[in-house]
Amino acid sequence: MNYPCENKKDEILSFSNISRSNLRADCKNCFGFCCVALYFSASEGFPVNKDAGTPCINLQSDFCCSVHKNLKTLGLKGCIAYDCFGAGQKVAQVTYGGYDWRQVPETAQQMYEVFLIMHQIHEMLWYLTEALRLKPSRNIQDELNSMLIETEKLTLLSADSLLKLDTTAHRFKVNTLLRQTSELVRNKFRDEQKTSSKRQKTLGQGRDFIGKNLTKTNLRGENLSGAYLIATNLRGVDLSGTDLIGADLRDTDLRGANLTNSIFLTQGQINTAKGDSETKLPISLTQPMHWLK
Ligand code: SF4
Ligand code: SF4
Repeated sequence: MNYPCENKKDEILSFSNISRSNLRADCKNCFGFCCVALYFSASEGFPVNKDAGTPCINLQSDFCCSVHKNLKTLGLKGCIAYDCFGAGQKVAQVTYGGYDWRQVPETAQQMYEVFLIMHQIHEMLWYLTEALRLKPSRNIQDELNSMLIETEKLTLLSADSLLKLDTTAHRFKVNTLLRQTSELVRNKFRDEQKTSSKRQKTLGQGRDFIGKNLTKTNLRGENLSGAYLIATNLRGVDLSGTDLIGADLRDTDLRGANLTNSIFLTQGQINTAKGDSETKLPISLTQPMHWLK
């Protein structure tokens, strides 16, 4: 999503330390990469069908989105959901030192390809920082820290080196740690309930919960990774220790739900769900503006 570009500043970015702000989109310091580099289609909530490498019709000459304030009313859910995890500004300001794809059109195609690789690396960084936030166990925390540093170093590679990177092999190592983290955290929340007298329905098998009412189901410590939760009613549900990596939360009713200690949730997922001021989110995420209107 291309955020508003008012008050555009020539801010000097520092990427010497990993911090949350480095993993959030900073569109003022980007050149609208997501609005150019990606292929997208109108049926997925984007303005029109367009090829990768073609600028969106709404991308202005200053790289800002002309309809940003109206994305919701225009039904552009794809734009609302998109999150680059800070890859856009990294490519713009670090990899290419502030040169944009209009200034150096001969390098534009390479920039788009580098952006796609950087997006993958920043997504891994996001999940690793989330894993650390969950404080699984001392041993795995050391491994997560090492992997975070190793992954962060990749983001500083030159464009040529990034293009040669084996991201699949690196992702495999990261995913192994993420799975172990999820298991440890979910076990912790499940164990806590053994002493609780509260009885609720359990989830049962399957990944498809589209349109279902799960408000009376115990989801603490559940593995809902990759689950279809489109328009599922989770109003007021406690999702502590629930793994939501890759879960489809489009129009999921999260009003009043507790996601403070949910596992591997992203801003993009939250942006597509329904919530309100009573929805509790992890400290790493923010309530979308449209929840508060
Ligand atoms: S790539 Fe990221 S930083 Fe750049 S415009 Fe898109 S969301 Fe914003
Ligand atoms: S409408 Fe176009 S310019 Fe605006 S955020 Fe969506 S893709 Fe980017």
